[in-house]
Amino acid sequence: NLMNPLVIIGGRSPESTVSYYLHINRQINQQKGGNYSAPLLLHSVEFQEIVDCQKSGNWSKAGEILATAALTLQNAGAQAILLATNTMHKVAAPIEEAISVPFLHILDAVTQDAKKQGFHTVGLLGTHFTMQDSFYKDGLTKRGVQTLVPNSDEQAEIHRIIFDELCVGKISETSKQFYLQTIANLAAQGARAIILGCTEIGLLVQQNDTPVPLLDSTEIHVKKAVEFIAQ
Ligand code: GLU
Repeated sequence: NLMNPLVIIGGRSPESTVSYYLHINRQINQQKGGNYSAPLLLHSVEFQEIVDCQKSGNWSKAGEILATAALTLQNAGAQAILLATNTMHKVAAPIEEAISVPFLHILDAVTQDAKKQGFHTVGLLGTHFTMQDSFYKDGLTKRGVQTLVPNSDEQAEIHRIIFDELCVGKISETSKQFYLQTIANLAAQGARAIILGCTEIGLLVQQNDTPVPLLDSTEIHVKKAVEFIAQ
């Protein structure tokens, strides 16, 4: 009953890393029974240092930090690496180049799930890097999924709530209502489902809050991790 040890590069933020850790372990336990849990190595990178890179646009430094972490963890026995954030997949390429074990890319997971459910046009919520920069939208398009994003005022507030509230463990009803309104607006514009494309959004908004189908990137990425560990 050997399982493949997986590395989670987390800490972006610590709030969502907890969700990954908990749900990977729970799902492995549900599959295997008894007291089985998941063999994991968890590397929690310091959050502010990479936020500073984001703010100054120094993505190459952020890429180096994460690629070094991934390589160190591969050397420590990881059989695959998972990066527990959507935004930092902007630097997926240098991470993938640094390692020889599989990298469980969040965009592969999200698009496979969307297409399986027949959603080819979806709304996207995330940080402004995720909603605006090409890596995420083009990554979705390349994998066969078209995206709609909120207007610029909505984007600013969606982004602010992520960093000022969700990433530091604050859950507010006003913010939840704002997200639900933005989701409804995207659905009215033709989005068939909404990608919660930031790993903290599921802490604020869940499927039973809205009739619009939600694709929670954390939940979907967790499923990929469980498949890998248990294969
Ligand atoms: N957890 C967030 C995401 O999924 C944002 C934090 C970060 O910048 O990595 O994009």
